[in-house]
Amino acid sequence: MEIFPTHPRAESLRIRKKLSEAFEKGIVVPEGLAAHGRGEAFDYLIGETTTEPARRAAEAGVALLLLSSKPVISVNGNTAALVASEVVQLAKLTGSKLEVNLFHPSPERERKIAEILIKEGAEEVLGVDPSYSTTIPEIQSYRRKVDRRGIAQADTVLVPLEDGDRTQALRRLGKNVIAIDLNPLSRTSLAASITIVDNIVRALPLMVKIAEELKGWPERQRQILKNFDNRENLARSLSIILHRLEELSKELGVSPPSSPRLSSGLTP
Ligand code: ATP
Ligand code: MG
Repeated sequence: MEIFPTHPRAESLRIRKKLSEAFEKGIVVPEGLAAHGRGEAFDYLIGETTTEPARRAAEAGVALLLLSSKPVISVNGNTAALVASEVVQLAKLTGSKLEVNLFHPSPERERKIAEILIKEGAEEVLGVDPSYSTTIPEIQSYRRKVDRRGIAQADTVLVPLEDGDRTQALRRLGKNVIAIDLNPLSRTSLAASITIVDNIVRALPLMVKIAEELKGWPERQRQILKNFDNRENLARSLSIILHRLEELSKELGVSPPSSPRLSSGLTP
């Protein structure tokens, strides 16, 4: 399918195309496509832009990665399909390990995602070699598999798109969790230590830029973290949505009637 650059939703269509191609290649699962749809709905509500609270959360997230001693970036199918290059760059800049960690795991898909990351320049990708596999006791069934060298011993985990159960389990294990999630009401958003309410296609490039700026400035990093309050920041994201909807509903209310009417002379 050709996407015309002048189409008003060209960017959104391009993202969908990338995901459907990744689905064809066995990198993204059908559930990943559905999760993306949920994200898109919230992107409409925030105005498809990086809001000020999102930018502040991204800054705090990068500061935390830089200050952590064992940071790990968790990578799933959607993340690999949309922002593989940025994820690798961010890992390098912040000294984070990369771990393939899937909500719907399969050795084949894990291998394919690792290959994408390696192609983008990653030197090491965890989560693929079964001999290092261990389990998080807090999570039910097969969804608890993690790498002994990665998430299992991490102090901070960045989860771009994660499920609530797993986020809560990581928090209960005492880990810092940085989430990127367009839905400010998801259990992940509410449970994370730092929640970046933004689309990963905008948040990841922004985080790379912030990492380049903040790297080597630990005092500044500490200051940013000290001034950051996740609950307050989430509340600000919600109030931006509320305010936008209020403004939009006012605009609709004052414009000429848009509902279908019968022209005069016609009887219903
Ligand atoms: P939770 O389990 O945390 O309550 P959920 O069950 O509603 O959330 P999941 O499918 O578990 O949703 O997680 C996917 C999350 O990822 C959703 O909250 C969705 O809004 C978000 N999401 C999907 N695509 C993107 C994207 N491109 N950028 C940021 N967030 C996204
Ligand atoms: Mg969920």
